[in-house]
Amino acid sequence: MNKDEALIVLKAKGYKHTDKREDILDLFDKKGGYLSAKDIQFALREAYPGISFDTIYRNLSLFRDLSILEETELDGEKIFQFHCSEHHHHHLICLRCGRTKTIEVCPMQDLSRLDPEFLVTGHKFEIYGYCKSCQKALREADESINEADALHIL
Ligand SMILES: [Zn+2]
Ligand SMILES: [Zn+2]
Ligand SMILES: [Zn+2]
Repeated sequence: MNKDEALIVLKAKGYKHTDKREDILDLFDKKGGYLSAKDIQFALREAYPGISFDTIYRNLSLFRDLSILEETELDGEKIFQFHCSEHHHHHLICLRCGRTKTIEVCPMQDLSRLDPEFLVTGHKFEIYGYCKSCQKALREADESINEADALHIL
């Protein structure tokens, strides 16, 4: 799913095209990963001063219901990204920037034999961590902290 496909879905389902909706979809297009309602509120603060959390959340829920976005939860906060409509796969999720990477490994291939009496109808599997550029940023942040400590000791 991308912004153009999402706009087609909205139109086909009879939903009004609004600048706000398009701008929210645009953020997901540019980001290519997960965003929270708060991230979106922050990104749109200049274009739409005073845009409420509720408005954003209602649109995100609508997009999710239309399978434009998929939703998961991180530290109790709901986060969203464009629905991956291709074949079955899972994601590596960067905790710092929210970008995701597809992994082709599915643990269910090994787990499905654990309980043959249980009828599995679905599963969720996500791996959390830090992407390469965030690891670098975190290292650099750490170094400046260490340098400050060193200066303090001297
Ligand atoms: Zn995906
Ligand atoms: Zn990252
Ligand atoms: Zn799987």
